[in-house]
Amino acid sequence: MRLMVTGGAGYVGSVVAAQLVEAGHDVTVLDDLSTGHEDAVPDGARFVRADITQAHDALDGVDAVLHFAAKSLVGESVAKPGRYWANNLGGTLALLDAMRDKGVAKIVFSSTAATYGEPERSPIQESDPTRPTNPYGASKLAVDTALTAFAQVRGLGAVSLRYFNVAGAHGRYRERHTVETHLIPNVLKVATGERDNVSVFGTDYPTPDGTCVRDYIHVSDLARAHLLALGAIAPGEHKIYNLGSGTGFSVQEVISVCREVTGHQIPVVVGERRPGDPAVLVASSAKIQRELGWKPERAALGDIVSDAWRALSQNT
Ligand code: UDP
Repeated sequence: MRLMVTGGAGYVGSVVAAQLVEAGHDVTVLDDLSTGHEDAVPDGARFVRADITQAHDALDGVDAVLHFAAKSLVGESVAKPGRYWANNLGGTLALLDAMRDKGVAKIVFSSTAATYGEPERSPIQESDPTRPTNPYGASKLAVDTALTAFAQVRGLGAVSLRYFNVAGAHGRYRERHTVETHLIPNVLKVATGERDNVSVFGTDYPTPDGTCVRDYIHVSDLARAHLLALGAIAPGEHKIYNLGSGTGFSVQEVISVCREVTGHQIPVVVGERRPGDPAVLVASSAKIQRELGWKPERAALGDIVSDAWRALSQNT
């Protein structure tokens, strides 16, 4: 297929683009490099440096779009909500209009567990209430809502994948955010000597060891789900699937595994809770397993951290 990957110079987008090229697809990466890296665009993919509102010309002859380009920092979204609404919702609506104009009627969308907000039960199912607690989650949910409407009225075929905590590396493709907020890369930066210690944001949550519990999914497993999603697109339907490994690990457990993998002692500083962090976020991925036959292959936290550590040690 001829595919456009928006945000294909970013962490998840570059891994998906690499897997699509490996599978023999014709891939165009569209990325404005606001947070991505041009050297992350896989060999064999065409690269267009442009904003998602400028995708029109590059959509000629494209069969489907995989849409990753977005702003994704929760804290920034609270401080600067306009950016999130303009880019994540406004930008996506412009992209969807350009797609309609060019007769591109298939999309896979990078959605998030942040659409659910504070969950009522664990694991979270797709039918659970969506009550985002920050503009980032709200802007992603708004796109999901628009996709449902466009599927109904325009015959668009859409699949949204709601990611839980993506981590690990796929070959040389790893997490390289300029502003790094995520736990695993921040812990590993202590092991490389880039940071002196890691802050644990709260130890008084109602969890077994008092730290937050998250569902970490290997980026290779996550990416593979996009190829399955592409094959499952049906005209006039918007399908939504959670994507996680289905097991929760606490912040303390993550740090312990990082100590084992790196052999570094990784000093910890206990800090305040980070506003808006739910105590437990674990996915039920039963729906995508049942309907698309997806299965995580590197769900063990040791594998996820080892792959992230290997890619980081080889590339810094
Ligand atoms: N966290 C932490 N220290 C850090 C980064 C994150 O204690 O330096 C905690 C954070 O409060 C949350 C968990 O680790 O409970 C996962 O956070 P991350 O930002 O990786 O992902 P999120 O769940 O927010 O999407």
